[in-house]
Amino acid sequence: MEFKVFIGLEIHIELKTKAKMFCRCAADYFGHEPNTHVCPVCLGLPGALPVPNKKAIELTIMVGQALNCQINSFSKFDRKNYFYPDLPKGYQISQYDLPLCQKGEFEGIKITRVHLEEDTGKLIHEIANNQKVSLIDFNRSGIPLMEIVTEPDLRSTTQAKDFLKKLQQLVRCLGVADADMEKGQMRCEPTVNLEIVKNKRKYYTPLVEIKNINSFRFAEKAIEYEIKRQLEEFEKTGLEKQAGNKTTRGWDEKRQKTVLQREKEEAADYRYFPEPDIPPIRLTDSQIKALKSKVPELPGVKIIRFMNQYGLSREAAINLIRTNIRADEFEKKINEAKKYGLSLQEIKINELASWIGGKKFNQKKKLKEIPVIFIVRAKKDYKLPKEKVIKTVNLVIDNNQKIVEEIKKGKETAIEFLVGQVMKETKGQVDPNHARSILREKIKSA
Ligand code: ZN
Ligand code: MN
Repeated sequence: MEFKVFIGLEIHIELKTKAKMFCRCAADYFGHEPNTHVCPVCLGLPGALPVPNKKAIELTIMVGQALNCQINSFSKFDRKNYFYPDLPKGYQISQYDLPLCQKGEFEGIKITRVHLEEDTGKLIHEIANNQKVSLIDFNRSGIPLMEIVTEPDLRSTTQAKDFLKKLQQLVRCLGVADADMEKGQMRCEPTVNLEIVKNKRKYYTPLVEIKNINSFRFAEKAIEYEIKRQLEEFEKTGLEKQAGNKTTRGWDEKRQKTVLQREKEEAADYRYFPEPDIPPIRLTDSQIKALKSKVPELPGVKIIRFMNQYGLSREAAINLIRTNIRADEFEKKINEAKKYGLSLQEIKINELASWIGGKKFNQKKKLKEIPVIFIVRAKKDYKLPKEKVIKTVNLVIDNNQKIVEEIKKGKETAIEFLVGQVMKETKGQVDPNHARSILREKIKSA
């Protein structure tokens, strides 16, 4: 029995905006006291009017462009009606037939659409006074949520997991989201079914959507389980019955299996209709172009460039591009070293890359504290006679009196500029730490 796996992904990502999607409440709710980031709009009180967040629309379009989508110059918001306690309005403002972006392609996988909607509140199930209770926190309600939908182009669990990781890398590089799965900022819903060939006949197992997966590992396990379950089901039933509508299942981590949630689900069940309180969104070509110009160098391109330009291994390059701050700092340090008169060959590039790409790189720590010594080759011997070094230091001090004054007034970091000047004058033949200490001494005694 031969079979083929079809996996499609629906990925929800919370956008990193200051305010929520349709109101002015602050969006940085994580870890805050429940129900403190709320207002009549995000509580869904009757009569409250939503006003769309322009920034969220822009960020979504940027993602669409990075995913090579077509950007719709005319799009609109719709109401998706359903009842659930975390959705007080009784509907979610989403996008139905006219999403912001559609028909893209990323890493060889077709992107169906990218649209914008609002997140729901969060249910917390607890025991209080020996009773099971469900509490609702509306801080999350109304957070801008971007939904990316792929075609069922993924053929294996590994491929699906890799794709999710690359997507996470992409939105982080674009700076539109933190996409931390542990914090629920990125959730995914894989859709899985199989094509089975038996006695030269093709059979298709019913489509199953697995709800709200919040870790790469769970995604992997849930899809793996679902493939096995569908195969077994086929062998049991022969699948003569028609592969009908989509079934919804949930991943049960305790029991390590997917469990049935809902039998059938169709778009018609949601009775989508245009959101009457928000006018349609019209984008001019120049607005779309302007956003396109904001899309930075994408991770895939940057990895290749780092490998070619700096001779890094793929792994080292991937570690560096995990956050923008790392990648930027790496290149900044290299440029600094060049200013010191060092050639690319003279820089300890692999050590620098593994230091900035590694655990030791603490983002909260001042970046200036990255030791300059890392960019200088260990074996480089500083042959310059001491008198020559002192002479250069004196010269640099004489030529930069303004900066010397600043240092004396307490702006200590300005000394790095003078170190750079000494390195430049001596064509990198001085140990920068040595140069710094002589500079400090001279400035103190001057
Ligand atoms: Zn609000
Ligand atoms: Mn959605």
